[in-house]
Order: sequence, then structure tokens, then C-alpha cells
Amino acid sequence: MIEVREVTKRYGAKTVVDRLSFTAKPGQVTGFLGPNGAGKSTTMRMIVGLDAPSSGDVLVNGKPYASSKAPLREIGVLLEAKAAHPGRTAVSHLLSLARTHGIPRSRVDEVLDLAGLSAVAHKRVGAFSLGMGQRLGIAAALLGDPAVVMLDEPVNGLDPEGVLWVRKLLTGLAAEGRTVMLSSHLMSEVSLIADHLVIVGRGRLLADTTVADLVTAE
Ligand code: ADP
Ligand code: ADP
Repeated sequence: MIEVREVTKRYGAKTVVDRLSFTAKPGQVTGFLGPNGAGKSTTMRMIVGLDAPSSGDVLVNGKPYASSKAPLREIGVLLEAKAAHPGRTAVSHLLSLARTHGIPRSRVDEVLDLAGLSAVAHKRVGAFSLGMGQRLGIAAALLGDPAVVMLDEPVNGLDPEGVLWVRKLLTGLAAEGRTVMLSSHLMSEVSLIADHLVIVGRGRLLADTTVADLVTAE
């Protein structure tokens, strides 16, 4: 479960996130939708403790995430700033993350398979397409078998087949009782993948609704 409570983030005089509150529950795929600059990445960075709110609270499974002793195992994250080093192979990137986080090596093969990357496991990440890079980022997020999965723009750069793969993957993770959250600036993408929608604009909550409610006309 991810709880964002009355969170405000200011950079200097600029308010980037403005008294934002929402909950992403286990068993659901929560889509975090808003135009570029709406404050989605900033909110996600605060959820994983890479940035501190100016005011308000962020809780992951009832605790502030920054205090977690085993981050990758509690929450798996795909962030735009967390790309793998281009000179490494997919396998060496994942092995090094696994080592740092005390995750068994055997899990690396599992996530490579899950991400459809087994065939390119020994290729350098620098030679990957955007879509393969996204798959590797998603594989890294799932490495610790986390109860909470949070992905910033996971569908960026994926072809339609990749989008369907993400949908199937995330729906499956939610069905296992995990909390899944993904951001996007495209309604067409999130409405395809998410059940629950949190829509933001200029750092403020615009709507907290279900996809079914949005698309069902009276
Ligand atoms: P989104 O992910 O929805 O595109 P962001 O959270 O990346 O939005 O950005 C929201 C706003 O915050 C943007 O106007 C961006 O320029 C600003 N911003 C983000 N990080 C910083 C920072 N470290 N310092 C100053 N402004 C920032
Ligand atoms: P570095 O920044 O030196 O490359 P790491 O990649 O381990 O070191 O990242 C620094 C922090 O970000 C660590 O606390 C780590 O747990 C966290 N982190 C890195 N990648 C992920 C990920 N995919 N999911 C969750 N947390 C991550």
C-alpha cells in the first residue's frame, strides 16, 4: 500500500506538488496520470525516499520508505534517472543490483525471463533499444520480489506488443496481491493498463476514480 497524505513539495518559490493525497491499494493497478511537469516524478521520488516532502507524509506499507532497511525488496522502482550503465551487460547490471541488495543470484535469470530478455542477457545495455531498456528497468524493479511496484512511464518507448506485455505483467502482479502504480502522460495508455486512476495537474489532485467510472456513460 502507498499512502500519500497532504504532500506538498516546493523548489524555492515554486510549488511542484500541492497538498496531494491518494492511496494506491494492494491488488490494484493504480495509474498516475497527468501532463509533463504535473509533478508525477517528484511524487514518485518522494514515495521511494529520494526526495523529502516540504510538508505532508508518504507511507509505504504503513512506514516512511526512507527508513526501510531493504528498499529493493520492499518496493521495486523504475525511475527515469536509474538507467543501467551502457557498458554493462543486462546480466551484470542485475547481478550487481542483486549483490548490493542481498537478493539470490537465481532471481536474475527469473526476472530476465519474465522481461523477455533471456536472449539478450549478455548484450551490452548500450546496444539496447529504448524498449529493451524499459524491459531491463522493469526486470530490475521486480528483482527483489517486492510487495509494492512503482514504475515511472514504463510504457515509454515500447511498441504495441510491449504495451500489452506490460499490461499483462502488471495485472498479474496486482492479482498476486501486490500494490502496483505506474505513471503516464497518456490517458490511452493508463486506461488500458490501470484499474484505479489518480489524475494530477500542476501538482494538484484533479480526480481519483476508476477507469470503469470514467468510460461508462450514463
Ligand atoms: P512529471 O513527472 O509529471 O513530468 P516532474 O515531477 O518531473 O513532473 O516535474 C514537476 C515540476 O517540478 C516541473 O516543473 C519541473 O521542472 C520541476 N522540478 C522537478 N525537479 C526539480 C528540481 N530538482 N528543482 C527544481 N524544479 C524541479
Ligand atoms: P548507485 O546510485 O550507486 O548506482 P544503486 O543503484 O544501488 O546505487 O541505487 C541507490 C539507491 O537506489 C539504493 O538505495 C537502492 O536501493 C535504490 N535503487 C536502485 N535501483 C532501484 C530499483 N530498481 N528499485 C528500487 N530501488 C532502487
